[in-house]
Amino acid sequence: MTSESKIFYFDNNATTRVAPEVVEAMLPFLKEFWGNPSSSYRFGHQLTKHIEAARGKVAALINAEPREVIFTSCGTESNNSAIHAALVTHPAKRHVVTTAVEHSANIKFADHLRKQHYEVTLLPVESDGSLDIHLLEKSIRPDTAIVSVMWANNETGVIFPIEEIAAICRSKGVLFHTDAVQVAGKLKIDVKDLDVDFLSLSAHKLHAPKGIGALYIKHHTRFSPYVIGGGQERGRRGGTESVADIAAFGCAAELAAANLKDEQTRVRALRDRLESAILKNIPDTVRNGDRDARLPNTSNISFGGLEAGDILKALDHVGVCASSGSACTTGSLEPSHVLTAMGLSTARARGSIRFSLGKFNTDAEVEHLVKQLPEIIAELRAAAANGAKHSPRAGVEKESAKV
Ligand SMILES: *Cc1c(COP(=O)(O)O)cnc(C)c1O
Repeated sequence: MTSESKIFYFDNNATTRVAPEVVEAMLPFLKEFWGNPSSSYRFGHQLTKHIEAARGKVAALINAEPREVIFTSCGTESNNSAIHAALVTHPAKRHVVTTAVEHSANIKFADHLRKQHYEVTLLPVESDGSLDIHLLEKSIRPDTAIVSVMWANNETGVIFPIEEIAAICRSKGVLFHTDAVQVAGKLKIDVKDLDVDFLSLSAHKLHAPKGIGALYIKHHTRFSPYVIGGGQERGRRGGTESVADIAAFGCAAELAAANLKDEQTRVRALRDRLESAILKNIPDTVRNGDRDARLPNTSNISFGGLEAGDILKALDHVGVCASSGSACTTGSLEPSHVLTAMGLSTARARGSIRFSLGKFNTDAEVEHLVKQLPEIIAELRAAAANGAKHSPRAGVEKESAKV
């Protein structure tokens, strides 16, 4: 894929295009004001006010106080930091509750904790991707240090009832963390309403660059740093602040707040148009995940009898970017852990594709995809039936050049 050819980007849950305003917001801190904010002279020290301005904007997106937000390197670090903090501040409690459908940031951290003789409960999900709240409640024990449940799933878009879960944790006196990486910019977030202890964000999922995240830590919730070093972030996260990335995140947070309505109306309508066209026009297709309790931008579909890898290759030929499972597990032949946890057969899980839309998607792009897909799928199925797997697709490539 070269940068000149038009791409049709339907993989916004993997990462998003950096908004032009965000690029502009970063540039002064790359070109002119490149000092170290911890320095005593003004050229460095003056940067702290820009960091604080950005912190205020990120805090505003989730209705937090600025002092409750720390900048991290990514969503993964934010998730790891929250669970780590709970275990370090409550050394007698060695049990963690999370779900089987979390991002690998949690799933792999759970493996890591088990090796250190912590106990982790991975809650199962129903076939529509939903959680059994009673089971969650029952899984909390006297030695549970923290419950960590994602707000919305990156693969299916399925939304968990975070408010209810937060209330259960509060009533049991257990810390609660939610991974809200996929929610920011798509649904309203109000940490005061929710009353969570920790909440993770990642800037590159909302049109800022990769490599910058944030963790909300409720005032008075005890914290212990995961990255230990200088006294940055008031001693809660060591490492020289990436001022340009922080400024980018601040700008992106402001844009995300202003864009919420578009996401819930226009982007949702585009997603619905794409999904209903696929389900109607292509035989043997099924939606994965609850239809209603779902992010407005995400559609996960199983194409019967096919391998996701083959579909993605054919889509790539016509400039369409989509994904199978999460980006972190593609390349491996394992079916998605999320779809497997929902009880999909291996075959169905392997034939699943996630389309995730965003603010830069247009009607014309969706129409392009809606037009191409039935033919692509029919050809792949015919090829599979003939046993000739990787058939050339010259006709479709020619057509894509017109759009
Ligand atoms: C992308 C993602 C993460 C990881 O964020 P990074 O900044 O890429 O580390 C965590 N959780 C969810 C739900 C995600 O979609």
